[in-house]
Amino acid sequence: MTDVNHAVSKALVSRYGANTLFVLEDLTGVRNATEKVKLKDRYVSVSWAFHQLRKMVEYKAQLAGSRIIAVDPKYTSQQCPLCNHKEKANRDKKKHHFCCRNCGYQSNDDRIAAMNLLAKGKAYLKEGTSIA
Ligand SMILES: [Zn+2]
Repeated sequence: MTDVNHAVSKALVSRYGANTLFVLEDLTGVRNATEKVKLKDRYVSVSWAFHQLRKMVEYKAQLAGSRIIAVDPKYTSQQCPLCNHKEKANRDKKKHHFCCRNCGYQSNDDRIAAMNLLAKGKAYLKEGTSIA
């Protein structure tokens, strides 16, 4: 996992270069809240790996003149990136499909989450924090 995280973090940071804002979901609270005790071993390994990846991206991004932030993951897969309508039924988790009950916009649910993270990153930058 450490080798994979090194490769992924290196690829991400070198692909986007300096002055990039990387936006990740802060998954620490989510996993504690949603995963069952039976999955405890899995939870530990998964969250450890994610934590390590985050640390590696942070470190490498800083060296490259970029920055990383972790945002609240709430509703990133349920909220429509076009009309902002928020509803659990927008997302079919099993089919990995998103369909907005308000405007009809459809896409893959991970893509929807990425679009919402992009919006959160833009909002973060708009608040006046530069990433120099
Ligand atoms: Zn919509």
